[in-house]
Amino acid sequence: MFQPPDPVRFQEILDDIVDRMRFETERGAAASYIPELADVSLNRCGIAVAPLGGPVLSSGDSAVPFSIQSISKIFSLVLALGHVGAALWQRVGREPSGDPFNSIVQLEFERGKPRNPFINPGAIVVSDIITLKSREAAENHPVLQLCQDLADDHTIYVNENVFQSEVATGDRNRALAYFMLAEGNIECDVRQVTESYFRQCSIEMSCQQLALATRFLAAGGNDKGASRFGVTPERARRINSLMMTCGCYDASGEVAFRVGLPCKSGVGGGIVAIVPGIASLAAWSPGLDEKGNSVLALRAIEELTRRLGWSVF
Ligand code: GLN
Repeated sequence: MFQPPDPVRFQEILDDIVDRMRFETERGAAASYIPELADVSLNRCGIAVAPLGGPVLSSGDSAVPFSIQSISKIFSLVLALGHVGAALWQRVGREPSGDPFNSIVQLEFERGKPRNPFINPGAIVVSDIITLKSREAAENHPVLQLCQDLADDHTIYVNENVFQSEVATGDRNRALAYFMLAEGNIECDVRQVTESYFRQCSIEMSCQQLALATRFLAAGGNDKGASRFGVTPERARRINSLMMTCGCYDASGEVAFRVGLPCKSGVGGGIVAIVPGIASLAAWSPGLDEKGNSVLALRAIEELTRRLGWSVF
């Protein structure tokens, strides 16, 4: 059984990792498709750990909100599974794609059924389900509401400027959605579905908030907050499996090799990692590698898990 280091030693390890990241010269490049992401300083770097049953530990820019982007695909998947259960898998697959997150080629070969819920077309089908089920429009976007509930923090918000920029630059995502509409895999209005998707991508959270909001996955479904949304132990295990195999786009194999944990990344530079039965982790630094994963957030998670011996293997 894993014994966590005492909190003082744990804090030293986190501070040490962030200090080292500050001096890294290879920091990647911030996403450039919208100004709100392009303009974030590459010097930003934060990490937070939410152990089961213990307070959050963190270091660096861990309280600074950033754009969660594709990390929102975890939360939207929870909602869609809560709505339609296993019927979701008739419309979305469960295989890694090996292609970039916004690739169109594979979708045509596979007749409009996306490979998995963590690439854009898969998340757009998930948004279609959420849009259909939440017609009586709640005040808040349902994914925002879920993030707020899971983190027990109602200060979490959608950045409207990011949302407007996503809408303005979203032709490729709309193309994916129209293609799936043509194949009979989208039921609602494409604009409405893609706007729901862009809005969830535009949620901002800090590493501390993200670690808290994803801790239910480390708890293996034994989490009161998440069970209200239908997250049973089996469902939590399956979401973790999908994160392990598909959570970092076409670098998922490489991330599994380096970290050995279920992870989910976003082009805002955040990465979440789950240590089942122990803790959830979130790291952030805006510089990305060529596959769209944060260079330093991944390195920070790799370093922490190596030092603590955290892995599912
Ligand atoms: N908003 C981005 C997109 O849809 C999110 C992608 C990502 O984080 N990989 O292209």
